[in-house]
Amino acid sequence: MSSTGVSVGVVGGGIGGLSAALSLLHAGFDVHVFEQASQLGEVGAGVQVSPNASRILHRLGLAEELARTGVKPLAWHQRRWDDGRTLLRSPLAEPLEATFGFPHYQIHRADLLSALARAVPAERVHLGHRLTGLLDHGDRVEARFAGGARAEVDVLVGADGIHSRVRRELFGPENPHFTGCIAYRGLVPADRLADLELEVTAQVWLGPGRHFVHYLVRDRQLVNFVAILEQDTWTRESWTDQGDIADALAAYDGWHPQVRTILGAVDETFIWALHDRTPMQRWSAGRVTLLGDACHAMLPMMAQGAAQAIEDGATLAACLADAGCNIPEALHHYERLRSPRTARLQGMSAANKTRFHLPDGPLQRERDAQMATATTDWSFESVAWIYEHDAATVNPVYR
Ligand code: FAD
Repeated sequence: MSSTGVSVGVVGGGIGGLSAALSLLHAGFDVHVFEQASQLGEVGAGVQVSPNASRILHRLGLAEELARTGVKPLAWHQRRWDDGRTLLRSPLAEPLEATFGFPHYQIHRADLLSALARAVPAERVHLGHRLTGLLDHGDRVEARFAGGARAEVDVLVGADGIHSRVRRELFGPENPHFTGCIAYRGLVPADRLADLELEVTAQVWLGPGRHFVHYLVRDRQLVNFVAILEQDTWTRESWTDQGDIADALAAYDGWHPQVRTILGAVDETFIWALHDRTPMQRWSAGRVTLLGDACHAMLPMMAQGAAQAIEDGATLAACLADAGCNIPEALHHYERLRSPRTARLQGMSAANKTRFHLPDGPLQRERDAQMATATTDWSFESVAWIYEHDAATVNPVYR
């Protein structure tokens, strides 16, 4: 597949790293992925794949796979925490596809990751490779891995997540910021919840100090939920851990029976401390750059973290393909194209923490009145700038 003669090392085999590898392979680069884990894997949870990301994944040949396991929801349905009243219902499915050209999917992360992994030739994915250091020699980059393995590439991409080692090597240590939110996540067999007669929508329940999201994944066989609540501190050593269902239920005491029934039906739940990053001034230095959570980790309140990582890969491939041999300039251009967009989404996601979690009172009533106009949140008017963006057809300036 390599036709450019340029080699690219991608550190990290998550959704961001694998989709970037695929975009780069399609653009003719000699790509190798280095993943620290001994096998590729994702957390047991769902992910929303909006049209700005599905546009890229379809082009990369994944349309059939996404359609097979993904679920196309009818709408985003935002509801009030106690009585379930509709605050805003924004259409998805056909109207969305007609407007933005590509579908919105709800998909199990493992299904998305395996679809990506099947598309990247196995010999290009090097498992058990934990990056420990790098050296930019000016005309090539040397990546060093635990155990002594080394690789030399023309370009190195850090797609190694929120605790990115590549980022640390480029810009020094800086801990991610605890957002004051934790998340319980879980998957419930849909037939266990048959009595709820759940509609095929992404439901987002808003309440004081917390919200709750649920939607179907894996060909409607599983109900995925994310329960996000505010908490002042995170004292556990790990940033993810087994959660206690009784604690989760206690946190949603008094909430609508549908929310409590879903929470109560799960066999096990995991708990995450949600961290984000402030937007970075630079993502690249020399022949090394970053993508995904490594450079723009955000709260999940816009459901755009993975989508933006997928976009990053497409833009990066387009910039490198157009760059001739000026790789540092291409990487600089890539970050100039990407960072205003991801910074805006980081800001919107953080703002939604406050907005979604307003206590009942005047500000909440004002928010609900705005939502009733059907022009906020995931209305077409609000998301057009996100969903219509084609990250692969940027027009870099190197001709
Ligand atoms: P990661 O998924 O963290 O992958 C990094 C990879 O790098 C891992 O495989 C790791 O093992 C590897 N790695 C790390 N260090 C090294 C090293 N030193 N050497 C080699 N390999 C290394 N986004 C959406 O678009 N839609 C959603 O609906 C959505 N919902 C979310 C809900 C929740 C509760 C949360 C917490 C996030 C959500 N997101 C969503 C955000 C999304 O999950 C992330 O933005 C996305 O998964 C980041 O992908 P990534 O590939 O950049 O990083």
